[in-house]
Amino acid sequence: MSKKQFKTESKKLLDMMINSIYTHKEIFLRELISNASDAIDKLYFRSLTDGGITLSRGDYEIRLTPDAENRTLEIRDNGIGMTREELETNLGTIAKSGSFDFKKDGANASEGNADIDIIGQFGVGFYSAFMVSDLVTVESRAWGAEEAYCWKSSGTDGYSIEKCDKDGCGTTVTLHLKPDTDDDRYGEFLDEWRIKELVKKYSDYIRYPIKMEVTKSRKKEGSPDDKPEYESYTEDETLSTMIPIWKRPQDGVTDEEYADFYRNKFFDYEEPLKVIRQKTEGLSSFEALLFIPARAPFDYYSREFEKGLQLYSSGVLIMEKCKELLPDYFSFVRGLVDSSDLSLNISREMLQHDRQLKSIARSVEKKIASELSKMLENDREKYEKFFKAFGRQLKYGIYMDYGAHKDVLQDLLLFRSSYEAPDGSGNAAAGGDRGVTLKEYVSRMKEDQKKIYYASGETVDQIKLLPQVESVAAKGYEVLFLTEDVDEFSLQMLREYDGKEFLNVQREELDIATEEEKESVRQENESNADMLGFMKESTGGAVKSVRFTNNLQNHPVSLSSEGALSMGMEKTLSQMPGAESGAIRAELVLEINMNHPIANRLKELYGTDNDKLAEYTKILYAQARLISGLTIDNPSEIGDLVAGLML
Ligand code: ADP
Repeated sequence: MSKKQFKTESKKLLDMMINSIYTHKEIFLRELISNASDAIDKLYFRSLTDGGITLSRGDYEIRLTPDAENRTLEIRDNGIGMTREELETNLGTIAKSGSFDFKKDGANASEGNADIDIIGQFGVGFYSAFMVSDLVTVESRAWGAEEAYCWKSSGTDGYSIEKCDKDGCGTTVTLHLKPDTDDDRYGEFLDEWRIKELVKKYSDYIRYPIKMEVTKSRKKEGSPDDKPEYESYTEDETLSTMIPIWKRPQDGVTDEEYADFYRNKFFDYEEPLKVIRQKTEGLSSFEALLFIPARAPFDYYSREFEKGLQLYSSGVLIMEKCKELLPDYFSFVRGLVDSSDLSLNISREMLQHDRQLKSIARSVEKKIASELSKMLENDREKYEKFFKAFGRQLKYGIYMDYGAHKDVLQDLLLFRSSYEAPDGSGNAAAGGDRGVTLKEYVSRMKEDQKKIYYASGETVDQIKLLPQVESVAAKGYEVLFLTEDVDEFSLQMLREYDGKEFLNVQREELDIATEEEKESVRQENESNADMLGFMKESTGGAVKSVRFTNNLQNHPVSLSSEGALSMGMEKTLSQMPGAESGAIRAELVLEINMNHPIANRLKELYGTDNDKLAEYTKILYAQARLISGLTIDNPSEIGDLVAGLML
């Protein structure tokens, strides 16, 4: 009979399995039991609508049979089984089974043994059988099928499928364990105690009984009490308690158990940052076990990412990803909800309108928000870590639904800022990356300060050097540093916090001067109106006006904007796919520092050498754009002009 070859990805994974280090090998049992449980779930599910299935819930089981003589371990289920085609596609390729993607990701993160380490931690599925076996057979009969098929493989040399005999539907996986070596005792997977230990460790919560015939010993009947004789006998034993982790008393579950559960179920290789348990009784009773990951999955900010929680009805999984249970801004949360109030065979369409589900979702949302705000208060370091991974999503949340959820979200936001902590510790201005909350900002506001100041730019360093930021900071006001494209949009959506409006310091209406100062600026502008008009013309209509200011500390020029669109927003919007170049423009004002020597030079030139004044204006405008983080349209013209000054 001809052998078929594995698909490329499968072969790679297979090689990894075969060569994996020994300590990880034991997880093969967890993987095969979990497959068996899934297969029973599928049949049980179908039985809810298909009267032809006569098995009742109590009939389902997963059976382990070690056979020391033949050195085999059998894992049998009476689940849905597989047809010939399914054996072919399911066991001939693993490319679709999610786990491989993670492996690629992990392998990129670090070199060398990264792949192998990951094996120990999360679902690698059926292929893990090859970590301990040199031959694996899978006999399976699909529900409703007349015929059974046997899939057989000894690893990398491919697999074969042929017809076989099998009573009843389900699947039997038989592992022919590798011979023991000096280092690796594969034979231990035939020991009853070892199998029991592994089931307890990894599969205790599986909903269907995991059974094994165990050998026990008892006193021989009739043997004298003072000289007892013993005989051994076998008995069926259920090895698992079948209580899911989320049903166990909260203080009875260790951090390690949660972490194991999380990694296996949700394919992460790191521990979760936070575990949240929730139990609610009343209108809709449910239990939730939620995890906040420590890191955003690689596809988190892409369209491929699907949010959702697993949904269970009295311990039975009815939906893998119920998206109705999570608002978009908390889409990073993983976990599950188990409710006895939901009907088992509820369809997706029905779910969307289900009142119970909506009320569960509301309560889950509240719980997540309150746990996050507790973390923010009590464990700032952890929260900073969380915010690094998912803060962007919270800001999107504010923006996406027009500020409708600002009450939930605004106090969870962190921003970099110019604030210097009294102890000099890691503030943004000093190059640290601690964030400040809006509440903290407001609590530090100066008495005469009416607005919350912010500035946006590519990096904190760049923002710090903005002329307007320097002058606002010089007056002792704190400035929020917005470095992410979504930042300014979400602040605009918030409009105000605690009654204080947000103000972009690169805006024309920046109002931090005294009356006296304002008056002198007004006079300066008035008496030079003609020259400023001439300069405006020289920019070819690029700016709305040119003006003197005394807001700038040491810089000769800066740009500010008028109207709804700021410069940062112009940049973000014009970088979006499909944006026409130049179509989106903030209305710009070129500001000249009236206290800088350059101001006098400009005045000298006006009326004596207007050509030169026009050239200087172009250079100053280009400078101002660059300082503000904008690009210039005519770099070579500016280059020539500057070179001309040097000659
Ligand atoms: P995963 O379980 O992550 O999908 P596996 O490699 O473990 O990946 O299994 C691949 C597929 O083979 C499963 O999705 C399932 O369809 C099928 N399968 C595996 N074991 C069984 C089984 N005991 N009964 C029925 N189908 C199974």
